[in-house]
Amino acid sequence: MHSRRQFVRSIAAAGLGVFAGSSLSRLIGAEATPERKLGVALVGLGSYSTHQLAPALQVTKHCRLAAIVTGSPEKIPIWKKRYNLPDSAVYNYENFDRIAENPDVDIVYVVTPNALHREFVVRAAKAGKHVLCEKPMATSIEDCDAMIAACRAANKQLAIGYRLHYEPYNLEMTRLGTQEVFGPLKHINMDNGFIANFNNWRFHHELAGGGPLMDMGIYCVQAACYVTGKEPVSITAKELPKKRPEFFQDIEETITWTMEFPGGLKADGRTSYNEEASLLHVDAASGWFELHPAYGYLGLRGRTSKGPMDLPHTNHQAVQMDAFASDLFANRPNIVPGEMGRRDVRYLLAIYEAARTGKAVPV
Ligand code: NAD
Repeated sequence: MHSRRQFVRSIAAAGLGVFAGSSLSRLIGAEATPERKLGVALVGLGSYSTHQLAPALQVTKHCRLAAIVTGSPEKIPIWKKRYNLPDSAVYNYENFDRIAENPDVDIVYVVTPNALHREFVVRAAKAGKHVLCEKPMATSIEDCDAMIAACRAANKQLAIGYRLHYEPYNLEMTRLGTQEVFGPLKHINMDNGFIANFNNWRFHHELAGGGPLMDMGIYCVQAACYVTGKEPVSITAKELPKKRPEFFQDIEETITWTMEFPGGLKADGRTSYNEEASLLHVDAASGWFELHPAYGYLGLRGRTSKGPMDLPHTNHQAVQMDAFASDLFANRPNIVPGEMGRRDVRYLLAIYEAARTGKAVPV
């Protein structure tokens, strides 16, 4: 299979210079110069901001942590000290709009519970900032439309935090699938879940928009699309009986679904808050290829029917944010736009509808 060197070469040829360090040679944007890193404001200082995004912003080449936006005053001194942030870099949810006057902030990164993404994306766009928004983009199509419209009206870019679009193992799966390296695809199997033993907003439909499907299953829905390079035509689904009903009162515990693609190819997905899983397996006419684990931040492993994949492991969040900054520098559209986030929310809602009605839902 692809060697590391071949991989870096093909990525560079595809224009993803973030891997080859060549992106700055293509600068044409006026907003920033290569000497200046783009400033990122993190909105919501929960687990993902604390443990992944802020540390990643210490190693990014083209962006840096420039501000924080939080509803938890007790976090402020910790973050100020850890990242050497001045008072002028600290906002709360009420005075957030004043970020418009802060020239150090180029990008607002929304990392709040899912149902709050809309509010902060719209306010960030109105403040004249480019926006990164975590997955799932929102909990309704109406919210997605409002977010896309706000960014368009402000002439600012909107990207979803789909880090795996820049991740070598998932990119290799995309290459093997879309180029039919093992012949036409025959079947796809996807599974993503963990055993949840906490109780927070993720268990409340109003804030999460659903259960593990919105949180973990979305990776499988995404993978089915990038590995095939196609969009499904219809979806069927089934919610499984709850083993811990007292824990999952408001959301599903485990749900399975099938995405049918043009030509009849089927991708079976499964996601759960009561099972450990992380799999992307593709059967093709003359072989198979898979990632296991497939979607986490660390330790991804790839194999094909011809042997193991040997690819670089990257800092997903740093590469993703640098890629967005490079797109802004170069004044070119990003590859994970709001429209893609909206598409996926449509598929997720179709899975819920199919499970509820027991009928195939055309998409
Ligand atoms: P978290 O619970 O650890 O943090 C959420 C933050 O939002 C907290 O700081 C909390 O104080 C704040 N918040 C603001 N208003 C709130 C409210 N009304 N109720 C509850 N909390 C509120 O969650 P997280 O794991 O950091 O996830 C945040 C977002 O990031 C989600 O959209 C999630 O899907 C996404 N995420 C993405 C990845 C990825 O790999 N791309 C990984 C983890 C999380």
